Amino acid sequence: MINLKSCPRCRTGDLFDGSDEYGCYSACIQCGYMGYSGKTISIEVAKAEQLRRRGRRY
Ligand SMILES: [Zn+2]
Repeated sequence: MINLKSCPRCRTGDLFDGSDEYGCYSACIQCGYMGYSGKTISIEVAKAEQLRRRGRRY
């Protein structure tokens, strides 16, 4: 599911829903914002995880 222009950070980005081992999240396609709805982890951990995953691709 995609929520158009509902990003809380950049306000113009499109959020898409996803899930991983930490729970369900919404991520912004444009700015890279990522928020977990389940609050199972902090945003800092989510960011670190996001960076770690990006690093794997290269
Ligand atoms: Zn955004």
